Amino acid sequence: MKTTQRPVAEGLFTWPASDTDPPRLIGSECAGCGLVSFPAATDCVRCASGESKKRLLADRGTLWTYTTQGFRPPSPPYDGPAAFEPYAVGYVELPGELLVEARLTEPDPDRLRIGQHMRLTLVPYTVQDDGTEVMTFAFAPAEEETP
Ligand SMILES: [Zn+2]
Repeated sequence: MKTTQRPVAEGLFTWPASDTDPPRLIGSECAGCGLVSFPAATDCVRCASGESKKRLLADRGTLWTYTTQGFRPPSPPYDGPAAFEPYAVGYVELPGELLVEARLTEPDPDRLRIGQHMRLTLVPYTVQDDGTEVMTFAFAPAEEETP
């Protein structure tokens, strides 16, 4: 049986994603000052310009900082699965763009380090009653790129 998947929200990342067409975060770039935003913003927070264009962000970056979530956050607002598994969240610096807050696929803090190379991926966030997997973006530890 094929599992149906859908993105957690429209416009956050490219969809559908596949091995040949890996996911990219959809940000925006201000036409006035060049500020890159994620999620995409129509009005610039720096220069107040109302003109921006869509920009696909880098799918690789480095871990800037992180923390681990070792217990289930209260609901609401948390609407993840009842069976809670610890996870890590972090800020990943996309070179020349911005810091993105995201879930990390590696929950063990001993296996994470600041400056580590990270790569964008998609992970199931929750599963609906009909079996549809709701997908969200995350960063996974990546091999250092060999020049
Ligand atoms: Zn601007």
